[in-house]
Amino acid sequence: MSAREPQALPPLGLDATQQYRLGIMGGTFDPIHYGHLVTAEQAREACKLDLVLFMPAGTPAFKNAAEVSSGEDRYAMCVLATAANPHFRVSRFEIDRSGTSYTVDTLRYLRAYYPQNVELYFITGADAILDILSWHEAEALAKLTTFIAATRPGYDIHTAQERLVASGVPLAIRYIEIPALAISSTNLRERVRNQSSISYLTSQSVAGYIEKNELYRRGV
Ligand code: NAP
Repeated sequence: MSAREPQALPPLGLDATQQYRLGIMGGTFDPIHYGHLVTAEQAREACKLDLVLFMPAGTPAFKNAAEVSSGEDRYAMCVLATAANPHFRVSRFEIDRSGTSYTVDTLRYLRAYYPQNVELYFITGADAILDILSWHEAEALAKLTTFIAATRPGYDIHTAQERLVASGVPLAIRYIEIPALAISSTNLRERVRNQSSISYLTSQSVAGYIEKNELYRRGV
């Protein structure tokens, strides 16, 4: 892994006598929407996070790269959507890396970059967390971070928890239900393709970027 400093990693933990809590908001963000922003803000509040670092995925694991918008577009939309929140930052770390984005690699890098008085909290959709458990170095992940799993209303937490217990991985995981996650990136892309409005589902700045750059006009 490159030793250079990934852009936009906030300088935390300079005071070694204090504990810091860093949320890492992992997602494809194609595009970012209000469900993601509400999730990050509520996770920040619930877990007393000092900062939330949005981490748009590079080549997302298990996705066809051709079906996902460029890293630059997804990064730009994250910057636009988060600009007004003093507790939010966006990192280029995964989009600047070549190859598949594995969460375990990102968390290993952050763990090595920040001193031990910075605790890591990885925030993402509950389904994505279950996938990570099933497929990639789940034991290592469990040691690196506490997970914050965002669920949509009606999400079956019981079955998810049974799968976690069955996996035998000693995982620290906290679920938060986010009503605004009724909004989904898939739905936004469909709406753009069908020339329907996406106002109030994401920020005006993101809606404007999508229009100006003609994103999502074809495919889903
Ligand atoms: P996804 O499978 O596209 O999303 C699963 C569900 O979670 C979708 O309903 C999605 O809604 C929602 N979601 C995604 N990110 C979210 C977030 N930050 N907050 C709230 N809901 C969220 O998942 P993905 O976006 O590709 O991946 C999510 C994260 O998991 C990324 O950081 C990715 O790198 C990581 N991941 C890692 C591995 C691995 O290391 N093997 C495997 C899978 C995923 P929207 O479509 O509306 O976002």
